[in-house]
Amino acid sequence: MASEQEEFLFADQDSTHDSLEAVSAYWDVLVVDDDPEIHSVTKLALSGVEFWGRALKFHHAYSGKEALEVLTHNPEICILLLDVVMESDDAGLSVVKKVREEFGNYAVRIILRTGQPGYAPEEKVIREYDINDYKMKTELTRGKLVTSLLTAIRSYQQICELEQQSLALTNILEASHAILGHTDMPSFGLSVVNQLAKILGSEPHGLVAGAIEKDAKVIVFGGTQTYLTNIGQGLEQVDNGRVIMQVQNCFDMDAHQQTDHDVTFLLQGKNRRAAIYLEVAEPPSAAQMQFAEIFLTNVSVGLDNIKLINELRDVAYKDALTRLPNRANFVDQIAQYYKPEQDQLVFVLIDIAQFSDINNGLGQEVGNLLLQAVKERLQQECPQGELLSRIGADVFGVLVPKQGFDETLFLDALTVPYQVGEHVLTMHFHIGVCCQSDFSPQGLETLKLAYIALNQAKQARQTLNWYSSDLEEKMAWRLGLIRQLRQDFELRKLEVWYQPQLCLQTMTVIGCEALLRWPTGKGDYISPGVFVPLAEDAGLIVEIGQWVLEQACSMQKQLSSLGHDISVAVNVSVPQFKVANYAQQVKQTIMEHDVPPEKIELEVTESVVMDEINTVVHTLSELKSFGVEVAIDDFGTGFSSLSYLQKLPLARLKIDRAFVKGIPQEDSGAIAELVISLGRHLGLKTIAEGVETQEQVDILRALGCDEVQGFFFARPMAQDDLLAYLKS
Ligand code: C2E
Ligand code: MG
Ligand code: MG
Repeated sequence: MASEQEEFLFADQDSTHDSLEAVSAYWDVLVVDDDPEIHSVTKLALSGVEFWGRALKFHHAYSGKEALEVLTHNPEICILLLDVVMESDDAGLSVVKKVREEFGNYAVRIILRTGQPGYAPEEKVIREYDINDYKMKTELTRGKLVTSLLTAIRSYQQICELEQQSLALTNILEASHAILGHTDMPSFGLSVVNQLAKILGSEPHGLVAGAIEKDAKVIVFGGTQTYLTNIGQGLEQVDNGRVIMQVQNCFDMDAHQQTDHDVTFLLQGKNRRAAIYLEVAEPPSAAQMQFAEIFLTNVSVGLDNIKLINELRDVAYKDALTRLPNRANFVDQIAQYYKPEQDQLVFVLIDIAQFSDINNGLGQEVGNLLLQAVKERLQQECPQGELLSRIGADVFGVLVPKQGFDETLFLDALTVPYQVGEHVLTMHFHIGVCCQSDFSPQGLETLKLAYIALNQAKQARQTLNWYSSDLEEKMAWRLGLIRQLRQDFELRKLEVWYQPQLCLQTMTVIGCEALLRWPTGKGDYISPGVFVPLAEDAGLIVEIGQWVLEQACSMQKQLSSLGHDISVAVNVSVPQFKVANYAQQVKQTIMEHDVPPEKIELEVTESVVMDEINTVVHTLSELKSFGVEVAIDDFGTGFSSLSYLQKLPLARLKIDRAFVKGIPQEDSGAIAELVISLGRHLGLKTIAEGVETQEQVDILRALGCDEVQGFFFARPMAQDDLLAYLKS
């Protein structure tokens, strides 16, 4: 014990404990005792004593009350030499209680002193109030006092250090908390610099720079005022060679860099590298660097989170192929363009027609390239466009100024053929346009409006259509009708009627066309011209079409059993061709009904053929080789490429009613003539529909038309009526 005392007694200034920073030049000791003699004895006993280079400074109080007062005014007091019995028997103990509980001073060390052994406090009190020592006044020799003070001061210092550390840790926690919650790099970077400066006790001047991918270019993520303009740019653009050099050194040497003017911290990370550059007024202490280090782990986590968040945001909001905003993003963004008083923008929704043909026919790779090309075309044609997004697989959306949006020019630009790899593709589009004045506060709703216009364009076989509120009413009406149709079809309320077809030379019935009828229940019928397109859109036509084919087969069977060996023509819609194994299904049905395939004819419109030319050619060829005949219905109304005509395994061309109707006026007759000679040229039969007058019959015969169908001969009629008609 003696040697330890010697070590500290009268120790000189250059103490070995340099880590303990001097807050005060003294150790402040408060002596509390109602006996003035004790004060002087204590002072005398401890005169000249120093601990770790610091002398003692005495404060004096002569009652518990006074002690509290002195303590309030001298928070630097670290030791309390406290008499237990003063103005009352427990005056000393109530001082202790007050100091700890009311003042909240848990650091000051307390050595209790009492004259009589009977007044010793209980062990419980000593523990509860963190009393360092308990001494009889008789024990207060110099040696014992020094030892007692030595341990008390040491423990005081430890407590202060702990408090400091916990304060620093609280700071780090707060700093870490402050940097969390930033989901973008610039604000995160700024926050990191600010917090790190706080920890190092310097002014915040600095930046965070790094590369988000391993070998990517180093860019400035964020920083204080001076570096704001550099955010997002390469580090080399920073107008401060020192910053560039230090960050570079940091990466090259794989370690923090510290100079008298700045500290550059390296942030370790798996797939990224980053550094924080911070100016400092003086080099940080070892302890500050340690705290900074703890903080940095949180920065790293934050950095990775942001990277992750951005990646997630990318996945959630960007289309991976085109790098355009996706549907979700678009829906989010368009809402902010809702300004009912404004009508400056139009939202253009662009659907690539028959995109699946490209994908299926030329491969996904080509499909992807086409999408890229369309995106580029849109970017090029809408330089003022905003929010260009990929909204669906083959659907793009863009906002363009209403003034200057010329739909014809826009379409012309869009339909210029696309060079995609080795292919040059001519594409068609369906476009819905919605004016800003019609926008809804909900993004999804606005998108829906443009889709209504787009779908209307598709149904009307137009390219472009503008949204208007009555479109929406029409839509509701359509939906109601589809529901009703589905129900009536399930209840077997639909009927198939037949219209005879005659040979113009012999004037005998050579076939009939099966035509759907939907009874309203009030004695009349809804036209197939109305409900068939609805059934096509709803996909219901697949089931209905199959049913019509079955009806047609059994009708043919019945007809031939009655000696009328005529064929039955069935209309086929686009969606039916899209069913896998459509040809197989038709063959199967024909075989099940045991009818000769050549007595069943399929009527396909030009739109069917044009929709998926390759599939259609393949399917029709298969059916043709089975024996089924194929006719092109409504010929002349929309066939855009005659070259396909040669590829198709056709038996007949049906001259559209529109061209027959005009006869004998000249131009219509001319088209009929053209179709007839084209048919002859291709070795196909021609049949004219919608023949209503004797004059038309004569002219058609003179033109060399083979067959006719029309009200002039017979209207479409129910099954039994046809049987009666044929009998007569
Ligand atoms: P479409 O295949 O061109 O059928 C001929 C249409 O012309 C029939 O109309 C028929 O009633 C009508 N028509 C026949 N002769 C004359 C005439 O002399 N004058 C006039 N003004 N019209 C005549 P309908 O029955 O209303 O059918 C309309 C369209 O509905 C059909 O045109 C066809 O495209 C479609 N359709 C009818 N049944 C079916 C079916 O079972 N499946 C499919 N996919 N479509 C069908
Ligand atoms: Mg037809
Ligand atoms: Mg027709």
